[in-house]
Amino acid sequence: MASDGRDEIIRNFDRVRLALASDRWTLSPDASIHDTAARAAEALGVKEILAPSLGSSHLATEGLDVVLDKIRQHQRTRASFYRAFDYAWTLNPLNYTSLLECLYQQLSLEVLADIDPRHPNWRKLNHIAIRVVPTGSLNAECLLDRDFKYVMLSTPFLKILQATLATLKILATRGRQVKRNLPLWVRSNHLNGRYVELALRDDFDACQGDLLNLLADVFYYATHGELEIPNARAPRLMDTVTDKGDFDYLILYEATEMFVVCHELAHILEHDLTSRARTSMEEHQADYYGASLYLIYNSMNMKTAHGFLSGPALFFSVMRSFVMCRNLLGAIQKEARWDAPEYVDEENVLKSRAFVYEKYNKEFGTVPDTDVTYKNIMAELWILTAACQVAILRQFDARRSPSLDDLLPKSW
Ligand SMILES: [Zn+2]
Repeated sequence: MASDGRDEIIRNFDRVRLALASDRWTLSPDASIHDTAARAAEALGVKEILAPSLGSSHLATEGLDVVLDKIRQHQRTRASFYRAFDYAWTLNPLNYTSLLECLYQQLSLEVLADIDPRHPNWRKLNHIAIRVVPTGSLNAECLLDRDFKYVMLSTPFLKILQATLATLKILATRGRQVKRNLPLWVRSNHLNGRYVELALRDDFDACQGDLLNLLADVFYYATHGELEIPNARAPRLMDTVTDKGDFDYLILYEATEMFVVCHELAHILEHDLTSRARTSMEEHQADYYGASLYLIYNSMNMKTAHGFLSGPALFFSVMRSFVMCRNLLGAIQKEARWDAPEYVDEENVLKSRAFVYEKYNKEFGTVPDTDVTYKNIMAELWILTAACQVAILRQFDARRSPSLDDLLPKSW
């Protein structure tokens, strides 16, 4: 341990991270996201530019103690795992820059310790640190440096996910008040999707502002590596929590981020981390192996009946929605066709990953109709994507005034 009290695995990360910051952390070729998102943010009136930072330590120590206690307890109950691998550093509070970092480290340890020692790559489970990194990139990444492995969760995705959940909650609350009967496209209500659709169909104008606030935050976060922005427009997820029922949204937040963590852990277990770009085949493989790790997480943290499905559904939907809205805004600005191939390639990869995942549900799922439930959850989230597209077209393309139905597929 060094003089600043942090362990070598963490001090090493900060050195690597500073090196990465110089080339905008482009381990995957998504640099173009930055430019188009910046233009989109400008179109939505987001002008403040804040410099990326390493993040500060606003540690809620009370919460941290609770999570550290869980790690301590886990190290006692899974002693053989901790004899094989050195994770003593995970008990040192100085090694974390946020409570979230500690939480995802703890949840990851639970998953890692449950992997069968007969797994051919079991030895790779040593020295894996989960880091929450302020960055201008939307994608999570994993990284090998010396013998240390890092899962890097990007703050833009964390914040976009939070803003999306907060907006879903606002719309669902509004939808609950709607007294009239309206024909709905969404069939299920696992994530309050029918309430969301009711709000949109009852009075789209009343929702337009919430949708534009969400989009402004999304494009801001996709452009800037910030943990918090002082003038975020969508309410903070925590601030929307008012009653016990709302707790579901925080569970969804954790579940979605853990799907991302499991996907990255799968890369660590199965792939060559020295290569800088991932093929789409590797992405599919990471989804597949990640799904089995994600099942471990869910088996120990099953808080909703559809947790195994809604985490990945939210991940794919939020990413795809971002790409689609960014492309739509980009095309409007350039007066180009927004379904042109250069706009839909990236979206198609996400789309195929989202729908192939359905197969894994059948393979790993314990209930026979998981694929139907997964499809329904995806449809519930699609309503928000379509609504954001309508909001963009109404705001920025005066020639069109589309309705929700224009943007919803006839069959799903
Ligand atoms: Zn990946």
